[in-house]
Amino acid sequence: MCGLCFSRRGLLAGLGALSLAACSENAVTGRNQLVLVDDGQLAGLADQAWSQIEAEIPPVRDPAAHARLARIAAPLVAASGRSDLNWSFTVLDSPDFNAFVLPNGRVGFFRGLFEFAGSDAEIASVLGHEIGHIIARHPAERVSQELAVQAGVSVAQLLIAQDAGEWTDEIGAALGMGAVFGVILPYSRKHELEADAVGVDLMRRSRLDPRAAVRFWERMATRTDAKGQPPEVLSTHPADGRRLEALKQAVAQA
Ligand SMILES: [Zn+2]
Repeated sequence: MCGLCFSRRGLLAGLGALSLAACSENAVTGRNQLVLVDDGQLAGLADQAWSQIEAEIPPVRDPAAHARLARIAAPLVAASGRSDLNWSFTVLDSPDFNAFVLPNGRVGFFRGLFEFAGSDAEIASVLGHEIGHIIARHPAERVSQELAVQAGVSVAQLLIAQDAGEWTDEIGAALGMGAVFGVILPYSRKHELEADAVGVDLMRRSRLDPRAAVRFWERMATRTDAKGQPPEVLSTHPADGRRLEALKQAVAQA
């Protein structure tokens, strides 16, 4: 079930219909989610976020790198059932170990991680995970939860009562600093595990070997950066033993 819908029920007293109206079952995960924003609103915020990111971390100048990323991603996108999004796959010129996806379908893959991943299959495992976040509707759920917590009932009520597509500015104001970067905040552990499982499923349906995901995260878990710290990606995508175990289980399921 959608935990927030019920844990916040008291706060939402008098708006009984809200929790019902805003919760919907995700067809990919079978889990109920709080969804107060529509994909069009998120795409608008994501467009802004992408412009800022690209200004700060430009794409690498090697067209072959972008082409390779797009080629590896193509079967995963086809398997995702979300070919309607304007997917783009860009290698960003940063030595960091990171990758992210925005709700408009833009995937940023940092050069450091791109070079570390090496094989197409390992890169595909990261892409499957990122695409998994989108088809599991994690950005919409995360922004909705943030809205419900930060903005409270009034904005949430407004969104439900009005044509939500016209309230992008109000959503931005309610999220404050999160208006742009809210779409790229770290995900919860639950979302990470779910994206892993969806990513494995996408790899399998794309006829790629999902064991590459396990190999990748095992290598990542032993990695430290130049300062001896775990790579940045591990702070947003923690690769502890339990996550690796869950990943192995997902891979083992035929
Ligand atoms: Zn993730």
